[in-house]
Parts: sequence; structure tokens; C-alpha cells
Amino acid sequence: MAEPLPICYLNGEFLPLEAAHISPFDRGFLFGDGAYEVMPVYRGRPFRAAAHCARLMRSLAAIRMEDPHTAAEWRALFAALIERNGGGDQSLYWQVTRGAERGRNHAPLPKLKRTVFLFSAPLVLPTAAVRERGVACISAEDTRWARCDIKSTALLANVLLRELSVEANAAETILLRNGHLTEGSSSAVHVVQAGQLRTPQHSPEILPGTTRSVVEELAARAGVVHCAGPVSEAELRGADEIWLSSAAREILPVTVLDGAPVGSGQPGPVWRRLYAELQLYKGELAGQPW
Ligand code: PLP
Repeated sequence: MAEPLPICYLNGEFLPLEAAHISPFDRGFLFGDGAYEVMPVYRGRPFRAAAHCARLMRSLAAIRMEDPHTAAEWRALFAALIERNGGGDQSLYWQVTRGAERGRNHAPLPKLKRTVFLFSAPLVLPTAAVRERGVACISAEDTRWARCDIKSTALLANVLLRELSVEANAAETILLRNGHLTEGSSSAVHVVQAGQLRTPQHSPEILPGTTRSVVEELAARAGVVHCAGPVSEAELRGADEIWLSSAAREILPVTVLDGAPVGSGQPGPVWRRLYAELQLYKGELAGQPW
């Protein structure tokens, strides 16, 4: 993510980033006790806001917190922050933590005023040169917890797994659990074999990606057969195409995995088709209510 834009929102106020402070007893700080979202904003318009709000609500319910805002309230906050930060293309981050109590107690879960924080940064998508080359990734055993379907702020395993790819000069760490693909450290992973697109089925092992659901819709529109189902390590390594998808990367072809070329070693035709569909779809949404 690029340098944040100057204005953020914290607990009822819009203020300069430098003026935003939270208690050291915030349970987000002490326990990673919170949930978050990252949403792309194209030309001032949030992309798939309803899906992000619904996922946040699911994450919060799974960690036994009610959503502190209605969808309409969230939307008003998004609109105000986007505007205060100058509109255009932004990446909007927002998180809710269980709040700050006096002291540190694992349980019982306290009823506190939730901490709500939003900030945004310029949306910096992979450049055309990166897309045309594709990216290199490495693989690693998925060492995360058993509820990866919750978009929790407790991301230590994701952070350490991502660091492995930084050290290997790669764009992402693709995760395997007991011999099958789960996802990336901060992205969904899709494979193409014989023209058919496959993404691991939804389960507690993976985050239900908002971009992934766009990919599924656009595949249907483009007549590309898509199925959600298990992908073995052998299928991953033998795939014609591998893609990453996320709010921050859109859809990005992986052309090298663990030093070996993926398929032809070039971005594949199915990726090209779906990437073009995504750009068309974004154009269709421009200027529409959200
Ligand atoms: N999986 C993980 C672990 C992620 O962190 C992300 C995004 O950050 C995704 C998948 C993709 O989700 P989305 O498309 O909603 O960004």
C-alpha cells in the first residue's frame, strides 16, 4: 500500500493522521482482537461496497462482536473520507476492534465502545509492465490458524509468510495445507487447466475474497467454465495458468512458481480475457450509484 492520504477517521472524528491516537489497552493492540476490510475505490466510487460490508459483518459475528455501524453509516463514512482525501483512485482500509478496557484480560469478552478506524491511500495497482511479465511467487506450508475465513487483524502468520516471498524477491507466498492449495498470504489463488478455471472451495481455510467473487461472475459472463473445488499441489504446479486476486492487485498472472515457469511462462489467454472483462466491468460501474 502506498503512503496513506492525510485524513483518517477515528472514533467519530475525521482528523489528520498525526492526530489519531488510541489507548495502549486497545484489544486490537494487545490481542489483535478486531476485524478489517480493504476496498478499492475507482474514481471516487467504492467497488463492491456491499460485499465488503457484508464480509466485515460476518467477520465481526464470528468473533462475537456486533457491527457498530449500519451499512448506511459505513457508506457515509466511506464517502466522507474519500472526499476529504481528494477522491480519485484510493485503497480504503477500515477496522473495528473490541475497544480498550483498563488492564489486560483475555476473557470475558468485554462490552466496550468499539474502536473504529479508517484511512485511505492512493490505489497503486500493478503496472502494465508487471502484468505483461507476470509475477514470481514462492510456496510455503500454510501455518495460519483454523479460521482463515475471518478477516481478523491478527495477521502475524500472514506477515511472516509474506516476508518469505520478500526475502525470495517474489511477489507473494502461495500457501499449501496438507498437500492442497489454500490461498496467498494476502490474496486468493486461481488456477487454469485446459481452459477451465478452478479456485479452492470456500471453507474455514480461506478468506472469501471479494475479487474472487467478481472473477466468478466475470468468468460466467465470458463463458469460461469455473468451478470451486480442491486444487492439489501437483495440480497447482502443473497448471497452465495461476493467478492471484485481491482488492489491491485486481487479477495478476503468476508466471514463475518456486523458480519454475507456470505453463508457458507467460500470462495466459484466460487471464487476458478475464482481465479485460474486469476493466470493462469497472467502466460499466463508473458513475453508477453504489
Ligand atoms: N485471502 C487473503 C488471506 C487476503 O488477505 C486477501 C486480501 O487481502 C484475499 C484473500 C483477497 O480478498 P479480496 O479480494 O477481498 O481483497
